[in-house]
Amino acid sequence: MRLLSCGLLAASVAMADGGTAARVFHAARAVAPESGQVTAPAWLLVDGARIVSLGTTRPAGDAGVVELGDVTILPGFIDAHAHLLHVEQPNEDSIVNEAISLSESDRALRGVWLAGQVLQAGFTTVRDLGNSGRGGDVSLRRAVAAGWVAGPTIIASTRALAPPLGQFGRLAPAHQALAAQEYAIVRTPEEATAAVADALAEGADCIKVIVDSGRGRDLDQPTLEAIVARAHRAKVKVAAHCVQAEAAERAVAAGVDSIEHGYQLSDATLSAMAKKGIALVPTDYPGSFYELFAPQRPAEARAKVIASFVEFRERSRARLKRAAANKVPIVYGSDTYVETPLGDRGREMALVFEAYAEAGLTPLDVLRSATSTAAKHLGLPGGTLQAGAPADLVAVEGNPLEDVKALGRPRFVVKQGVLQRSAQ
Ligand SMILES: [Zn+2]
Repeated sequence: MRLLSCGLLAASVAMADGGTAARVFHAARAVAPESGQVTAPAWLLVDGARIVSLGTTRPAGDAGVVELGDVTILPGFIDAHAHLLHVEQPNEDSIVNEAISLSESDRALRGVWLAGQVLQAGFTTVRDLGNSGRGGDVSLRRAVAAGWVAGPTIIASTRALAPPLGQFGRLAPAHQALAAQEYAIVRTPEEATAAVADALAEGADCIKVIVDSGRGRDLDQPTLEAIVARAHRAKVKVAAHCVQAEAAERAVAAGVDSIEHGYQLSDATLSAMAKKGIALVPTDYPGSFYELFAPQRPAEARAKVIASFVEFRERSRARLKRAAANKVPIVYGSDTYVETPLGDRGREMALVFEAYAEAGLTPLDVLRSATSTAAKHLGLPGGTLQAGAPADLVAVEGNPLEDVKALGRPRFVVKQGVLQRSAQ
């Protein structure tokens, strides 16, 4: 097997090799997330872009065998909360700096680079939730679908619907246009209905709504309800950014499909989410991750910032534990957008698995959050190894049911039957 570190090169080599013909992937084991059932050894037959069968013996026929070795085959991961067109530096005015410092073309090209990293990490589908400028996510979706660039299948939201100024804290007069570049500003139910229709016309597969901007500017209830009604009429899902408890409570009452972040969730809100089948997308990281953003000196300032991170992390962990105890569907969401010393989106995304495990989710439930549960709640066909499913696969080193960190050790990635990453 050739060692291919570049996704683009891997894709083109695999295609030149006849990557979409019937082939059998042979590995030490495979895990079906829905049941947790382990198939060992695993022989997974793929024909074109679809899975045909999974068994413990080599299937009859003359399909070529791809030897993967001592790895675990899983369905390709799904990230319900990505920002492929957005990178921020960790400082206060970062969202403004990001929005003014790059042209649309710069942003798109950087999005291609990030999409490649995400795919190499085993994420074969991502839902991109805004801060893509006007139409950036739709263009990237088109480029990937057309095979111009290597990347995950993209579910695009276009601009997030938001209260005035969106998530900008303040905007200098010269930068006022940025709010409309990054957000579809809505103030009334009528504007909200029109904004959903506009998003759909621009190519949105789902709607992202900023319920609370964290700056005391919230969407009111009739506006929120109008968004949900118009989106559901078009049969698209509504992903609701909620930080405060009250925002999540109102979003759940309005009938959104997922609560993004949801750092504060009352037991009443969690039980309503479980009853209505509303997913929580906890964009959480392990404690060590947040320390990357604390200033190095002076020591007192560093200690103070770290203490606030520890407290935030403790609260996040406790609410995820309560969500799981209340049987709220948990769907993986990375929300990666801040530049870190790790320097690779894929490596950053792997940390989210560890954060969920830290909160007490079993390795199988962590796996489900990024596969079967994600597919179910996003209304997607993947997330499974069942016959007929898309042949979107990741093979990881080790057994993720024994060691959740194995989810962060992808060795092979297959998208729509084509090998995208291959390393021994
Ligand atoms: Zn986000």
